[in-house]
Amino acid sequence: AKIISDVVCPFCGTLCDDLEVKVSDDGKEILEVYNACVIGTEKFLHSQAKDRLTVPMKQDEEGNWNEVSVDDAVEYTAQMLCNAKKPLMYGWSSTNCEAQSKGHEIAELVGGVVDNTATVCHGTTLIAVQDVGVPSCTLGEVKNRADRIVFWGCNPAHAHPRHMSRYSIFPRGFFTGKGHKARKMVVVDPRSTDTAKMADLHMQIEQGRDYELLSALRVAIRGNPLPETVAGIPRETIQDVAETLKSGRFVVIFFGMGVTQSLSKNHNIDIAIALTRDLNDYTKAAIMPMRGHYNVTGSGQVLGWQFGYPFCVDLSRGFARYNPGDSTSNDLLRRGEVDAVFVLGSDPGAHFPISSVKKIAQLPSVCVEPHYTPTTAVCKLHMPVAFVGVEEGGCAYRMDNVPIETRKVVEPPEGMLSDEEFLERVLERVKEIKGVA
Ligand code: SF4
Repeated sequence: AKIISDVVCPFCGTLCDDLEVKVSDDGKEILEVYNACVIGTEKFLHSQAKDRLTVPMKQDEEGNWNEVSVDDAVEYTAQMLCNAKKPLMYGWSSTNCEAQSKGHEIAELVGGVVDNTATVCHGTTLIAVQDVGVPSCTLGEVKNRADRIVFWGCNPAHAHPRHMSRYSIFPRGFFTGKGHKARKMVVVDPRSTDTAKMADLHMQIEQGRDYELLSALRVAIRGNPLPETVAGIPRETIQDVAETLKSGRFVVIFFGMGVTQSLSKNHNIDIAIALTRDLNDYTKAAIMPMRGHYNVTGSGQVLGWQFGYPFCVDLSRGFARYNPGDSTSNDLLRRGEVDAVFVLGSDPGAHFPISSVKKIAQLPSVCVEPHYTPTTAVCKLHMPVAFVGVEEGGCAYRMDNVPIETRKVVEPPEGMLSDEEFLERVLERVKEIKGVA
């Protein structure tokens, strides 16, 4: 057996790059995974599952699944995309940037809509950043400098398990030699989560009242009077948190879907950014979204380079339009405005409202996915592919927008294409059908 080091975990946006993976001498089997958290380890071991799908499966009219060849899968996908007036090409967050860019090329040729998982996650953050800008930093700066950490509407103890040990709370950095002993941790969450239980100060906010509490913190930071309670939090606690943040040398506010998808949505992030800006009058402060899928940040980046917008890009008129609420996947599905669905690198079947999932089930649809998922169960074609970050390398962006080259540690099953290879073949066929050189 041999050990491969500096392996990057392709699970969450923390993109830990210090994993070690023990593989068999023939390079085909993963024996052990070191340093990863339990979900990261599972991602590697899951690729070894004995019941893994290795051939494309297609559903017939009666709902029976039949094996088809890769050529047939390419043909079905290309024909579906070319015949549709406005296909939705959704997902992209669990694949590499190379595959994303190839998929966008197809979308441009067929006049599709490209949307990623930010649409139900941090899309509101992206809107706010476009509105007001963002004072941010890298996770390396957090580790080396930050002594006041806020987790607002997120639960890294479960969703990003090594975030606190690698970057935000426990590590000893260059200017943070005492590790967690010199850091103050504030958690804002209506629930008493495992992250909240570790906090120095937990503000157990009333659900959906983030905007008010963020406003109150801005007032408290300026030393202006507050009502007795705001969003269920006593005035003294708010003042205490404001003083704690102001007295730090470097404040970082991390936030998650508890605040991006609760009442006020992007306006919550607008004001959280304004709070960060205010704090910079007293100390150094930055803010960062806790991105979920390991390369959802990359999807926004690649869409940004190619079309100028980070999600829900509508190419159906021959040029890029971006209109969240209109060109976003669930709005398009609900209004019946798309006539085919292509999914790669995500699982809308598990995360979209049931009304949207039913729409997907009624349409011609393809899911490119190494696992069996609720989405593969409703799509007409399930195309299995290699696991990016395990059986295929490529570029991914960490939650702080730092690009990291993922590593291939084992060979995929024989004949298994990567996302990029499959998309390349579909692109070639789409070009033939469209008569494009
Ligand atoms: Fe992987 Fe995230 Fe766990 Fe790091 S914290 S090992 S990136 S799942």
